Amino acid sequence: MKKRAIGYDYGECEICNIPMQEKLIKQNFWIRGKLIVVEDVPAGVCPKCGEKVVKAGVGCWILKLIENSDRIAKAPRISVPKIKFDIKEARV
Ligand SMILES: [Zn+2]
Repeated sequence: MKKRAIGYDYGECEICNIPMQEKLIKQNFWIRGKLIVVEDVPAGVCPKCGEKVVKAGVGCWILKLIENSDRIAKAPRISVPKIKFDIKEARV
């Protein structure tokens, strides 16, 4: 299911020189050893290399969200698989 966001011009990818496409992305942040996922962040994504850009205002709002410990405390939890890299097992 694709949601459409507001239609902001993110310009072109600095690497590929092709227009960025607006998408709602998930952004991961590590705050004091905890992984916080912010969903549905409007961002420009390069269809070729996957480079992402967010508007300055969006970036500021994300910072406010992830600094709001009350909101984080009430947020639903997801569990993520955690795998340890075993250097002996990998034999590298
Ligand atoms: Zn690119």
